[in-house]
Amino acid sequence: ASENEAAVAAVPSDSPTIFDKIINKEIPSKVVYEDDKVLAFRDIDPQAPTHILIIPKVKDGLTGLSKAEERHCEILGRLLYTAKLVAKQEGLEDGFRIVINDGPNGGQSVFHIHVHLLGGRQMNWPPG
Ligand code: ADP
Repeated sequence: ASENEAAVAAVPSDSPTIFDKIINKEIPSKVVYEDDKVLAFRDIDPQAPTHILIIPKVKDGLTGLSKAEERHCEILGRLLYTAKLVAKQEGLEDGFRIVINDGPNGGQSVFHIHVHLLGGRQMNWPPG
């Protein structure tokens, strides 16, 4: 419930977020994959045995998927491809789930696009 309240109260903006501090190593995170374009790190409040966030290092206006423009196609593909690489690295042979929350109804609280990679347990459908 508090997650939902946070998402509804969150004001979408293109300002720097806590993820910029993670990218710049100003606050600690458990990085599991990094290259020049993307960063993958463990979620601080894991919802599954494996819960990793995959983000672009440069936001370029991509606060959320709903703000995607044609120029973002390459980075969007790279985020998903990285999710696949990290899933393999994490040993999620039995499957995994990818989630992108967008806006208040989607439960988004951080306005820097991020792909959630969840695995290590049976996922339920429909999601909450
Ligand atoms: P929600 O907060 O409702 O899950 P989002 O889809 O915007 O919405 O997800 C933001 C995610 O970022 C959350 O899963 C949250 O636990 C995670 N998070 C927030 N701060 C940190 C942090 N400092 N390190 C790692 N993960 C974080």
